[in-house]
Amino acid sequence: MFLAVLWAAAASPAVLGAPVAAAAPGARTPLVLLISFDGFRWDYDRGVDTPNLDRMAEDGVKAAYVTPPYLTITSPTHFTLLTGRYIERHGVVHNMWFDTTTTEKKPYYQTQFVNECYQGEVAMVREVEPPLYNYKNETAWRRSADTVMSWFAERRLDFVSLYFGEPDGVGHRYGPDSPQLRAMVRQVDRTVGYIRRAAERRGLTERLNIVVTADHGMSAVYRGGQAEEITLADIPGFSFADVAFHLVDFGPSGMLLPKPGRLEAVYGALKGAHPHLHVFRKEEVPERLHFAHNDRILPLVLWADAGYVINGYFPVQFNKGEHGFDNGDMDMKPFFRAVGPAFRSGLEVGPFETVHIYALMCHILGIRPEANDGHLNATRHMLVGGGPAREEEGGGGERRMKKKKKKKKKKKKKKKKKKKKKKKKKKKKKGKEGKEGKEEEDGRRRN
Ligand SMILES: [Zn+2]
Repeated sequence: MFLAVLWAAAASPAVLGAPVAAAAPGARTPLVLLISFDGFRWDYDRGVDTPNLDRMAEDGVKAAYVTPPYLTITSPTHFTLLTGRYIERHGVVHNMWFDTTTTEKKPYYQTQFVNECYQGEVAMVREVEPPLYNYKNETAWRRSADTVMSWFAERRLDFVSLYFGEPDGVGHRYGPDSPQLRAMVRQVDRTVGYIRRAAERRGLTERLNIVVTADHGMSAVYRGGQAEEITLADIPGFSFADVAFHLVDFGPSGMLLPKPGRLEAVYGALKGAHPHLHVFRKEEVPERLHFAHNDRILPLVLWADAGYVINGYFPVQFNKGEHGFDNGDMDMKPFFRAVGPAFRSGLEVGPFETVHIYALMCHILGIRPEANDGHLNATRHMLVGGGPAREEEGGGGERRMKKKKKKKKKKKKKKKKKKKKKKKKKKKKKGKEGKEGKEEEDGRRRN
């Protein structure tokens, strides 16, 4: 039997694999299918009929949401899912392949299979999307699902990762609050149902663990004079003549390599130039984002607040939805469902970071994980015999220990909280009315 590690290329419909070890023939080892629906935000099932996703939650585990790593874009976050490392540690820092010396940039499709080897072995099972691939085609989705099931059943793979390019495309084009988005969510739901039935037909249900999640969420972009655009070339004191290499016009995030001796001038011009533009010297990027300690991260890191994008010379981005924002932003959080013999059923758990999913999958497969930033403690409670469910966000062993120390303090705080609660209740009543009004206003502004 082949044990396979399958790498999801940035946006390939079905993926490729590199066998790394062989298990004893005939062994009934557990199987794992990791599915990513690009850009499926945690709350997309609200207000949409999703019987298959609901059934998956009833039969398995549902997380309130999961937190992707920063930068919240497709290739970097997928590599975190598959390596359990933060982006600064795995080094895929952008969707674009780039070389700052030659100023060459290549989109993911051109970089597929440039390196055919993984740990010295060539992928034996793989699927490559053809050029101009239609990411929305439901028939092609079902074909991919059938292919994957045949890999499990006939080629005896133990792990496969499966990628679908939606609802990201529709979310960008029509926005996360559009009827087109809701229609695509129903398509995702039908596909999840199809995949589970396909597994059943192949007699895989008792061995197959299915994890469904996404790389990032989606946020509506202010359009049509709703907000002042961020256009770097228009910022007084800033000049692209001071910049040797740049990655801008990719939604709300950007990176700049200033020419020798010009870093402070560029930084000084951009910092504080727009109320919704954040500018950091790479070493000053907040530690919680884990996006600094890698040579490929350029010296200046830029990002915009929700609703805004960063343009270079002039506005060229007209999407109604974007991602790439701070991973603390609720709009950037993906969904998470898991079902199979390893998972408990009917369990709803609190949020956790997607960096922990790798350790979870390794545990189920019985593989010793490579060095990574995740921890099984963040997800162990989802597993059969894994211990009691925890309400708090899982954050690895270290964080849990710290929490224990804090317990005593918490008790004291609880008493205080009770008093405060009474006061809050009164305030809430007033606040709720105000908030609803604001949300309605936001909806109008964003659409
Ligand atoms: Zn996208």
